[in-house]
Amino acid sequence: MPIGCAIVRRMATTRIDDGLHTALRARGQRVTPQRLVIAAAVRDLEHHATAEQIHTAVAGRLPGVSLPTVYATLELLEEMGLVRRVATESGTAVYDPRTDVHHHLVCRRCGAIADVDGDVDHDALLRAARGAGFAPDAAQVVIRGLCAACAAALPPAP
Ligand SMILES: [Zn+2]
Ligand SMILES: [Zn+2]
Repeated sequence: MPIGCAIVRRMATTRIDDGLHTALRARGQRVTPQRLVIAAAVRDLEHHATAEQIHTAVAGRLPGVSLPTVYATLELLEEMGLVRRVATESGTAVYDPRTDVHHHLVCRRCGAIADVDGDVDHDALLRAARGAGFAPDAAQVVIRGLCAACAAALPPAP
């Protein structure tokens, strides 16, 4: 093994689980400090976050890291199934550390996003998508409306 490779490996294993290493290498992707730190930041997210928020979260550990790098890394992690992207009103990409099947409530007034669980026939949806000539990646349900706080703030309907 070349020396450089051994150094990268030692540096990286100080913080990050081997699962990510294996997953990156299995895809022929290099294991870089940026990727490891951004993946760790995503895993530590307590809520859905935008790329800008993730960029802010990692700036201390990755001085000078650019927002496009963060976007590209998030895209890679999404392809690897380590983060999910949630569809929002504004079209802003919002990332979700929770990768198991669940759905989202999106408030049209304040933009708040919350998880919601419920039974959805994904297979039927994906089949319908394929029937329309679409090549679907995954199905997720977004329920639009008003969050509890916004609903409470609005005057009652006449
Ligand atoms: Zn709201
Ligand atoms: Zn979620």
